[in-house]
Amino acid sequence: LDYMKQVLVVGATGSIGRQTLDIAARHADDYRIVALSAHHDQTGLLSCIDNPVVSSNCKLCLSGRQPSDARIGYTGADGLRRMIIDSTADIVVNAAAGADGLASSIAALESGKDLALANKETIVMAGRLIIDLARKASRRILPVDSEHAAIFSMIERLGRHTIKSVILTASGGAFRDTALQELASMTAVAALAHPTWSMGTKITIDSASMANKGLEVIEAARLFDMPADNISVVIHPESRVHSFVRARDGSLYAQISRPDMRLPILAALAWPQVPDDNIADLDPAMAAMTFRPVDLARYPLLGLAYDALRAGEGATIAYNAANELAVEAFMDGLIGFMDLGSVVKSTLECGWPTLATDFDMVQAIDRHVRDTAVMIIKELQ
Ligand code: MG
Repeated sequence: LDYMKQVLVVGATGSIGRQTLDIAARHADDYRIVALSAHHDQTGLLSCIDNPVVSSNCKLCLSGRQPSDARIGYTGADGLRRMIIDSTADIVVNAAAGADGLASSIAALESGKDLALANKETIVMAGRLIIDLARKASRRILPVDSEHAAIFSMIERLGRHTIKSVILTASGGAFRDTALQELASMTAVAALAHPTWSMGTKITIDSASMANKGLEVIEAARLFDMPADNISVVIHPESRVHSFVRARDGSLYAQISRPDMRLPILAALAWPQVPDDNIADLDPAMAAMTFRPVDLARYPLLGLAYDALRAGEGATIAYNAANELAVEAFMDGLIGFMDLGSVVKSTLECGWPTLATDFDMVQAIDRHVRDTAVMIIKELQ
């Protein structure tokens, strides 16, 4: 790059956060980490500052509990917001988990920073509002989800006007080859054995149920302004094609690399430049790539995501929040694997507003959904 880019990382101790520090250190002439946050993991947060790419006066925030170390100057959700707004960073990597990540996305854009976004809830809950905010602030949202990063890079190179539709690839998760009648009795431990990606707990369960792909379908619709009919999903067990775009003339383009999240992280950090790196290079002569259609009976949460997308903004907030609570209940052993879809379906059936007019309304719908989903989960137990 032609200048030293300053980077703030929200969720520094998680999988994406750690890989952000790693890839920034590989390109230490281009990046300096100037602020870091973690939710609970104080030890992990403090260990980050040993990394040479982290500046000596790096600001630190522990957002989920009271820190016991004086080097951590910011605390709580409000502290995190203040750290983002006060920061001199050029770009905020938002790798927070769950619905709480929305506040950091808002703070980043409102204070004039680009947003490298790994928190898909931001777009699923408030896509139209956040894209509007970015436009008003003349800042960019750079997707860090591997599928969306792939689509984004192809759209950047080919031009949005040339693209007709997108196809998201999905690994199929831990149960893609499990007999259909055995799915109901699958445990959290089994769901956590993901075949190709190593990720956090919640996203790995979401991968097994394909709620993750459902969230990504919604994310793609909002990020790329694409109707539900123009977004499809294909199972690709090897996770080498990170998504396809179909051009107006019917040609299909793919972005292909080894499954390594550091590639989409680096692409987002470097944008609008295309950085030199071979970290995820793949030799097609050595790589099998297979594809098969999705069986919606196996993955009801994928079909429900399309239902939510067509129903409107309140329904996509409901899809996300109901699934979040259902996954918690499944992890606690309170409900079965196939109940994940039932909880989301029953919650969607309650009916939710078509439009969320501002961020307060997003939060109000989110709270209402959670109250509703808790009752639905209780009835299932
Ligand atoms: Mg993804």
